[in-house]
Amino acid sequence: MSKTSRVIFNPTDDELLEILRDAGYRVSVPCRRCGHPLTADHSVDRRLGPSCARREAA
Ligand SMILES: [Zn+2]
Repeated sequence: MSKTSRVIFNPTDDELLEILRDAGYRVSVPCRRCGHPLTADHSVDRRLGPSCARREAA
């Protein structure tokens, strides 16, 4: 098994992000609240880490 582990940090727009993810790259974006790099799909979608998402929801 040779799953790519390459990470693309902070692609410039959502379309590019989708293309990279479809191609099998891991994509990382900075949390818009604290700047921490996010790689989990749902966090990347929201541009928000789990702990910051909880704070925003409160
Ligand atoms: Zn955060």
